[in-house]
Amino acid sequence: MKSQLEPIYEDVLRRNPAEPEFHQAALEVFESLGPVLERHPEYAEAAVLARLCEPERQIIFRVPWVDDEGRVQINRAFRVEFNSALGPFKGGLRFHPSVNLGIVKFLGFEQVFKNSLTGLPIGGGKGGSDFDPRDRSDGEVMRFCQSFMTELYRHIGEYTDVPAGDIGVGGREIGYLFGQYKRITNRYESGVLTGKGVGWGGSLVRTEATGFGTVLFADEMLKTRGASMDGQRVVVSGSGNVATYAIQKAHQLGATVVACSDSSGYVVDESGIDVELLRQVKEVERLRIQVYAERRGGGATYVDGGPVWEVGATVALPCATQNELEPRDVKSLLDAGLVAVAEGANMPTTPEAVRMLQAADVLFGPGKAANAGGVATSALEMQQNASRDAWSEEFTEARLTDIMIGIHERCAATADQYGLPGDYVAGANIAGFVPVADAVLALGVV
Ligand code: NAP
Repeated sequence: MKSQLEPIYEDVLRRNPAEPEFHQAALEVFESLGPVLERHPEYAEAAVLARLCEPERQIIFRVPWVDDEGRVQINRAFRVEFNSALGPFKGGLRFHPSVNLGIVKFLGFEQVFKNSLTGLPIGGGKGGSDFDPRDRSDGEVMRFCQSFMTELYRHIGEYTDVPAGDIGVGGREIGYLFGQYKRITNRYESGVLTGKGVGWGGSLVRTEATGFGTVLFADEMLKTRGASMDGQRVVVSGSGNVATYAIQKAHQLGATVVACSDSSGYVVDESGIDVELLRQVKEVERLRIQVYAERRGGGATYVDGGPVWEVGATVALPCATQNELEPRDVKSLLDAGLVAVAEGANMPTTPEAVRMLQAADVLFGPGKAANAGGVATSALEMQQNASRDAWSEEFTEARLTDIMIGIHERCAATADQYGLPGDYVAGANIAGFVPVADAVLALGVV
């Protein structure tokens, strides 16, 4: 890291103790920014980076609700409004027992640069709760969401802060959240949340967008080496929203996805994961991935525990959670002929694993760039809401494809410009940082 950045990073550590994921996300960006500050001393003079590391607003609140047995339950919830220089705060809500302030801040910090990279007018934020929707009834999830929104509603709005889904928050949860917002405010303010159902203000392709975009980004990276997704052997981690549609798009582009996982274990299906069966098991019936192997019969097997990466692939798509692809996984993937990794999840690859991949000349697409298709399509949903319009599937998917190609070009060109060809980490961090930094300067000390 450049020496002038060290005191700023030390300040981040001092002011945000016990938030290792936030420290990790900040360090990764800091390590890329040395050359930018050399070219733009005005950023350092105006303390732009220090301002970007301090969220504009952090809200922590209690969520009381009553479970099916009549017991009172208490959860903790967060909304971190990180930066609104480019547009309203925008970023998902995560419901998972591991959620704490540091996790939400790492996700919000990443979101600022990711949203900037899309080229669309959206700032960055993130939120969530330590509520675990798994094994909860629909009624319990609804009561939790209603209580959560009873506090959150006063902080959000289509021009202020626009949440969406993330781990544990899908169409069902967005429905309950939007319903309660509508009831409290007495406004049908469609643009206040994205990821809505297509029948009530949602956009076609939003559900698929993050997974589709990740694979499109991988395809663009492969094209720089005269290859493509066609014919690749792919392993995906996770089996939720991002993973499912990454698998679908990989198959559409001629690859074979031979394995995917959940937090209990993984399935191997050498003939290619059956996306419809996966959706039925995981999304519709909300069962464990083990059931996929039982129903698929024949060639599919279930492995309890263990990293899915040991199956071996030429393209790896981590689509579950942070820090899930470690150095030992890189080793087994390299042995199997790995050529590319595109991050569908946020920060799924540990810093040491990223260094190993780059040293081995593996194409590496960081989440900020590779999974930005989701939030980009959320911004398209906001555009449709603002104009009271609904676009066709073809048109929306074409926009998504253009956006992903544009993000790839921006990352690659920026890396070239700074003398780091092929370094998508530096390319994404710098190309994401510069527009936000310019807007921060233009808006004055606010
Ligand atoms: P999701 O639908 O809830 O699926 C998450 C998947 O990851 C599930 O298969 C889950 O397994 C697994 N998982 C979660 N936590 C895990 C852990 N600690 N260890 C192992 N596996 C774990 O969530 P999602 O929307 O697909 O999000 C996945 C990732 O993509 C996250 O990093 C998220 O921030 C990122 N992302 C999402 C979007 C979006 O539009 N949804 C956009 C950009 C980035 P179980 O079923 O066992 O829980």
